[in-house]
Amino acid sequence: MKRRTLLRAAALAAAAPLAAPFLARAQGAGHVVVVGGGVGGATAAKYLKLFDPALKVTLIERHPVYIRPYGSSEVLNGHVAMADLEVRYDALASRYGVEVLIDTVIGVDAARRTVHTAGRRSLAYDRLIVSPGIELMYDAIPGYSEAVARTAMPSGWIPGEQTALLVRQLQAMRPGGTFVLVAPPNPYRCPPGPYERAALVTEWFQKHNPTAKVIIVDPKDSFVTDQTMMLGWNRLYGFDLPDDYAQKMAGKVEIQRHGRPGMLRWVRAKDGGRVLKVDAKRMRVETEGDVIAADVVNIVPPMRAGALARQLGLADASGWCPVERRTFASTQLPHVHVIGDASIADAMPKSGFSANTQAKATARAIVEELAGRPAPEPVWENTCYALAGKDYGLFVADVFRIVDGKIARVNGEARYLPLDASPTQIRLGARYQQAWLRTFTQDVFA
Ligand SMILES: Cc1cc2nc3c(=O)[nH]c(=O)nc-3n(C[C@H](O)[C@H](O)[C@H](O)COP(=O)(O)OP(=O)(O)OC[C@H]3O[C@@H](n4cnc5c(N)ncnc54)[C@H](O)[C@@H]3O)c2cc1C
Repeated sequence: MKRRTLLRAAALAAAAPLAAPFLARAQGAGHVVVVGGGVGGATAAKYLKLFDPALKVTLIERHPVYIRPYGSSEVLNGHVAMADLEVRYDALASRYGVEVLIDTVIGVDAARRTVHTAGRRSLAYDRLIVSPGIELMYDAIPGYSEAVARTAMPSGWIPGEQTALLVRQLQAMRPGGTFVLVAPPNPYRCPPGPYERAALVTEWFQKHNPTAKVIIVDPKDSFVTDQTMMLGWNRLYGFDLPDDYAQKMAGKVEIQRHGRPGMLRWVRAKDGGRVLKVDAKRMRVETEGDVIAADVVNIVPPMRAGALARQLGLADASGWCPVERRTFASTQLPHVHVIGDASIADAMPKSGFSANTQAKATARAIVEELAGRPAPEPVWENTCYALAGKDYGLFVADVFRIVDGKIARVNGEARYLPLDASPTQIRLGARYQQAWLRTFTQDVFA
């Protein structure tokens, strides 16, 4: 014991010149800097102040207006306008006392616990939370690039100008044209998202361009909510389920057999759906099974943690950020936590809902630790709502805990809208999705 105490004292003495200012600062409630004012960061900043109003919390975000990705596919079919996606930070500052700094973080000095911005600000912190979202790897697909995405084959998976371009292309598409959606490999932001987007685009064509075709090309053979989503496509867009799916679902629900090509097709990996390259000049998408002549191409490229995470050394070789599961503390840098899409969260999907509950659990852990108490055992949740059409809602709902050191789903199999849900339940699912969008945005930003 004696030897250990001595060693600890020696370590403290050695660290004294560095530690002194931080110890002085930590005598109050402390200063937490949060980088990234998206779902994860904004929730964390707000809940840190709710859990401990004495804490100083600074949120650094590079854009003054956040364009929310969740619900952004609804711009494509005109449910909402681009302006409806915009969220501001006023309430975080005025209601909760979060100091909001519009600036771009360019570096962190982990030893001095200081964050540096492009606007030449340096902020000292006791804890840093980083929630930088994703980076789209445009160059991972031969023929694709950010320049192509901006001008010819938009992605819009981080919403903004590309989303607006996609809307214009959709509306200008020739009668009977072909819309191709390139789905991403795992892991990616919003697992049901590409399939919801394809459904909403098909719904729009049904009204405005009824001979149009929508083709999803996919490097995967399955996706979350696949059975309930495909059932929706089957009922709404004349989609014939692949035989193996139809067999799996037989006896649980009646599936229509249309026997002719519907408006929507899903070409999965085993049917040649993996994309080999794209040609923006000739508007071609070459897959393992086909060369598709397209009129509009929407590409959801492979993803990795937002550039900042890699710039700060928070990501590992996988491109994502490893964390200690209980507190989402980075395993790469001390006193830094990574939450949201950028983090490696095992069974938790990369969704806004996940980022929101990760932010709350992490905020609680930080408040407790700064007060010298242990972080509580976390429980996280996720519900991804998705639309197969404006009035056709479905979902996947899960609860997560740490099991054997990893984040695991602990609820049973009844996670989806039941296959035999009534038309009223399905319509209600769509209403719940809309209600969730409103209340969720309030929980994060208002
Ligand atoms: C089409 C679509 C539909 C979706 N639907 C749903 C849904 O129904 N339900 C759901 O739960 N989720 C949904 N999502 C996913 C959800 O939007 C994301 O999972 C969520 O936004 C992740 O939060 P985040 O904090 O990790 O990243 P983000 O929300 O992307 O926030 C990252 C923030 O960091 C900022 N930033 C990055 N680098 C810096 C820097 N150097 N300095 C300062 N700031 C920086 C960025 O500007 C950004 O504001 C959907 C996504 C898409 C694309």
